[in-house]
Amino acid sequence: MDTSPRQPRRATRGRRPNRAHSYNFGPHELPVSPLRNSVLLPNTVMPLYIEQEKTRRAIDAALDREGLVLVVAQSHEMVEVPDPSDLYLMGVEAQVERTFIGPDPAYSVMIRALRRARVVRYTDYAMYLTAEIEPIAEIEDASPLALARMRIVREHFELASKATGRYMEEAVSTVMGISDPGALADAVSMTLDLSLHARQSILETLTIPERLELVDGLVLKEMQVQQIESKLQQNVQVEMDRSQKEYYLREQIKIIQKELAEHDPGLRDGMDLRERIETAGMPDEVRTRALREMERLDAMNTMAPEYTVLRTYVDWLLALPWTTATTDRIDLDDAQRILDNHHFGLTKAKERLIEFLAVRKLAPASRSPILCFVGPPGVGKTSLGRSIAEALGRKFMRVSLGGVRDEAEIRDHRRTYVGAMPGRILQTMRQAGTVNPLFVLDEIDKLASDYRGDPAAALLEVLDPEQNSTFSDHYLEVPYDLSKIIFILTANTLQTVPPALLDRMEVIELPGYTEEEKLHIAQKFLVPRQLTDHGLTPARLEFRDDALRHIIRDYTYEAGVRNLERELSGVMRKVARRVVEGKRAKVSITPPRVSGYLGPQKAFGHEAETLDQIGVAMGVAWTAAGGDLTPIEIAILEGKGSLQLTGQLGEVLRESAQAAISYTRGRVRELGISPTFYEKNDIHMHLAMGGVKKDGPSAGVPIAVALISALSGRAVRHDTAMTGEITLRGRVLPVGGLKEKAYAAYRAGLKQFLLPRKNLHDLDDLPSEITDALRLIPVDSLDDVLPLVLAAPPRCTEATEHDAPNTTPPAARATDDAPRVVDKPNPVTPHEPQRPLVVGLN
Ligand code: ADP
Repeated sequence: MDTSPRQPRRATRGRRPNRAHSYNFGPHELPVSPLRNSVLLPNTVMPLYIEQEKTRRAIDAALDREGLVLVVAQSHEMVEVPDPSDLYLMGVEAQVERTFIGPDPAYSVMIRALRRARVVRYTDYAMYLTAEIEPIAEIEDASPLALARMRIVREHFELASKATGRYMEEAVSTVMGISDPGALADAVSMTLDLSLHARQSILETLTIPERLELVDGLVLKEMQVQQIESKLQQNVQVEMDRSQKEYYLREQIKIIQKELAEHDPGLRDGMDLRERIETAGMPDEVRTRALREMERLDAMNTMAPEYTVLRTYVDWLLALPWTTATTDRIDLDDAQRILDNHHFGLTKAKERLIEFLAVRKLAPASRSPILCFVGPPGVGKTSLGRSIAEALGRKFMRVSLGGVRDEAEIRDHRRTYVGAMPGRILQTMRQAGTVNPLFVLDEIDKLASDYRGDPAAALLEVLDPEQNSTFSDHYLEVPYDLSKIIFILTANTLQTVPPALLDRMEVIELPGYTEEEKLHIAQKFLVPRQLTDHGLTPARLEFRDDALRHIIRDYTYEAGVRNLERELSGVMRKVARRVVEGKRAKVSITPPRVSGYLGPQKAFGHEAETLDQIGVAMGVAWTAAGGDLTPIEIAILEGKGSLQLTGQLGEVLRESAQAAISYTRGRVRELGISPTFYEKNDIHMHLAMGGVKKDGPSAGVPIAVALISALSGRAVRHDTAMTGEITLRGRVLPVGGLKEKAYAAYRAGLKQFLLPRKNLHDLDDLPSEITDALRLIPVDSLDDVLPLVLAAPPRCTEATEHDAPNTTPPAARATDDAPRVVDKPNPVTPHEPQRPLVVGLN
């Protein structure tokens, strides 16, 4: 045998081997063709695809002889060019049947495996690998054990092929037709999906029963794997079938519902709702939620109580605006015109609003500040908001927060609560119908908090640009975007506004109107508007200016113009009636006629005293209506030193009164007062309240003045209002509500207003109409105050030498009703004490 390496030869199409005439079962040398990922068993024919040059040369060498080659598996699949150590020592002697020239440079051959062959030795030539082999003739075994095993293998194989349906019929029948036990084992194993090593061990098992047993185990294992696999596949199939079935049923339901809907309004309703949900432009989360609730609705009996609850909920989701918006138009001239058309004066507020619009125009997405209008009722806070909405082309919405104590009113109760509804904010959004209205939140100073949660905190969530894009209403349960709303707040006072809210706002003050301003507003705005509202014209009804003044003074007592507007409409109603009854063609309202329309005078603000009096000082208080006079009266009575306080705010004033007494006791000498006054006299202090509720005056100064006046018998100037708290040593401390107080003093026709020096700046922008009529006098201490307001001591006084009862001036005695006229003018600012004063006229 020629074992020397040869030159490689070119493969030739259809080349056939030179067949041997007799077979040599002794050891002999063969070229080797390694198999990378498979094991060849005898009696099989297999195409081989040869990539390695070395193997190709081995095949060529084989073809030069009888075409015999050793095909042996590599024990390591990964090695590309194996050397002998990578090869098993058991392979098959095989016949190269045909060669093909495959796509270059590959080489395909058809190989028939003949018999097992054990390798005695490999020789690795540079050209190709050879092996010295010992062919193994198959042992013929017809023992009962072999036959029994063969039968079992057959049975199991048949079973497996039926159970799995995996093998082609011919393959099965070929295998079943093999009568030689060893060959059957080999053939069956070739049909199984085995690992390289498992198949190699079949090759290496030479004893037939053993080989059959091994193969049988593998058949059973294969059968198990197949069973599990088909079960898994069945599951997948069932899943797929179910979802297909569901889809199919759903489609069917839709068709049936559509058919039925034509006759069933309930169903039609459900379908309409679904369609509306799909087209409402809701965010995904909300739409999914709505559709889910629809499914629950579908499954419910329409008579069940929960049905209505759920249905209302879905209706709510649909009623809210999700995408509808108005487009802002910002034209500053236009805006100014609209503001001027609706409002007289208010220059500062208008200026600020125009600036606000300008910034919005330049930076529409920037966070604009939350404006807050602060002032008494009826000064135009809400209507300014309305005008700004008009200027922007936005929907105007008003939410009153007055008396909101419960957080739920802002963001509602949970839906489980019977009769639950969304909070006020979302109710208003529903009315607005657009996602970007302008909201005026009225009376934020009236928010109260108690055990039902903190409405201010909920309101903050509404206003805070960081949080309000996902506002959570307890009823709705899905987030709602409030970030496109412009919020404007209003308040009567800032004192009761929760500090956290105060932090976010920019305050614009609207302190109230003077009489002249009111007259102007009435002529230019209120009367024309009311005329139109009542279907009247100036040709039918005219108001004379003096009649308007009369209404302003004697029928309204307020900082704003709300009551004035109401009174005017009262007149109009009556005139309208007369016109309809055909009684009069034209009515002209003059002062004497006013009472005919409006009845007797209605407003009685505190009248300023007409004369200087002892024991009476004029305080001023802030009220929700914009400030009012609060005369403080003190009487000194015989007694044992008790302090009695009467009037609605008696107790509130006790501390101020105690401070005034202590101050006075420290100065008895200078003031000419009996040093034992607090032991031998009772002091009765009374605060006349008038009709309007006051929120707590800051009356230390007027109390001290009234007390000292009563004790010393020196009269108090009747034309002077005063405000300020005092310390024990008589220092005057700043207080709040100065503007309203100044307006009140002015309205009452007073001439002087004493105020804490630190408060002077609060009055910087009072209209000149007020500062011309009212002298503002800043004071630091009671020592400044007393000479300004008290008359000189009575001529006949010997206060310090008498006991207190005798020193008490007659005017202040309980028995002495008549106010005492002090004929001596104030030495500091001489004035006419007897000049009568009519409230509101000066
Ligand atoms: P507020 O909100 O401050 O209580 P409103 O805005 O409701 O007051 O105003 C009450 C009425 O007074 C409205 O009809 C408003 O148009 C009118 N009004 C207030 N201020 C002015 C003004 N400066 N010019 C014209 N009308 C005014």
